[in-house]
Amino acid sequence: MSESGCLFCKIVRAEIPSFKVYEDDRTFAFLDIRPVNEGHTLVVPKTHTLNIFDVSPEDWSAVTETVRKLSGTIEQALSASGINLMMNNREHAGQIVDHLHVHIIPRFTSDGLMHWPQHSYPAGEGEAAQKKILAAL
Ligand code: AMP
Ligand code: ZN
Repeated sequence: MSESGCLFCKIVRAEIPSFKVYEDDRTFAFLDIRPVNEGHTLVVPKTHTLNIFDVSPEDWSAVTETVRKLSGTIEQALSASGINLMMNNREHAGQIVDHLHVHIIPRFTSDGLMHWPQHSYPAGEGEAAQKKILAAL
């Protein structure tokens, strides 16, 4: 998807309406149109960027700083009792909109949301995964 056809670029340029909650030189934040919980917010870089593999260090720093600031603001404003941060990168990981975005999801004690399932490493597989990552650094 090119910048001109990108949904989130259009939101940043105010060509499509959004519930904007924050903006600075590099970043823009608005409410997710289909929230997990009230106050579910998306933080994006203003520059068209596909995902974590594509972002510049400067924009990523700016996005994470906006996420840090807004997490506290949103938790307090909505009287939430925690925040989940979520980011989907590439289609197989659940990314639907190809413009980098971090989800800020306020949590409430009775919201019933579950985390994803986890498992233990079978013998030797933790070390094998560690070796692959270290070799790629
Ligand atoms: P992802 O699966 O991480 O790509 O998430 C994309 C998110 O964008 C979804 O949670 C959608 O609900 C949200 N979304 C799609 N269109 C809009 C829109 N026009 N305004 C705000 N949020 C949107
Ligand atoms: Zn874009």
